[in-house]
Amino acid sequence: MGHRLERLQAQLADQRGGRVVLLSHCLLNQNVRYLGGAERPGGVQEVVDDYLTGGVGIYQLPCPEQRAWGGVLKRRMLVAYGSAGTVRAPATRLFLGAFLRYTRFVYARLARSVAKDILDYRRSGCEVVAVVGIAGSPSCGVHTTLDLPGAVDVLTRCPMAQLDRRTLNEDVVAAHTGPGEGMFMRALRRRFDAVGAAVPFEEHDLLRDRQIPPPPPTPDRPQ
Ligand code: SF4
Repeated sequence: MGHRLERLQAQLADQRGGRVVLLSHCLLNQNVRYLGGAERPGGVQEVVDDYLTGGVGIYQLPCPEQRAWGGVLKRRMLVAYGSAGTVRAPATRLFLGAFLRYTRFVYARLARSVAKDILDYRRSGCEVVAVVGIAGSPSCGVHTTLDLPGAVDVLTRCPMAQLDRRTLNEDVVAAHTGPGEGMFMRALRRRFDAVGAAVPFEEHDLLRDRQIPPPPPTPDRPQ
């Protein structure tokens, strides 16, 4: 098979560059971000453009929270939103440990599936140039992550009437972001180590991209 494959590859040589990057799902599709956390309507164009212009193919990683937390809107996590003063608040805090154990179980399964694909790319002669995670994510952070128990604690003490995008992104997310590795990136890195696939990990900071709306026009000053 080896000789035949080499012959076919030589006879059918085409434009493929033989390099691929693994991008976190939301770099290509912001619709899976937590409510209040999407920074773009679609994806992060400049990241995608950089790789494609450089002749690197893109493998879109699964969104692990979509898989483990109840779909695109992560409905299992939404239970905690605006739960202050309801029975959902103490229940969320009580079951968080079990929820995180389940999350790690799902992430380990996803990581095995991604690692299989990576081995296939390498066997097929492709170089996997990097894994790009998302700064500050409890799942996809590489150098920075979210203290999920701390964030959930604040979230479950915030009444529905006070929950807005600023409160969520500053008091809940930014206030609990620090050095560390997200659960899915850790599972991926361990799986890659186990199968001997050395791939560099880096992270993209979506907040750095934040498009701040222009300030409202100031009324003309009287002359
Ligand atoms: S950071 Fe990871 S878990 Fe969060 S939306 Fe992006 S792909 Fe999904």
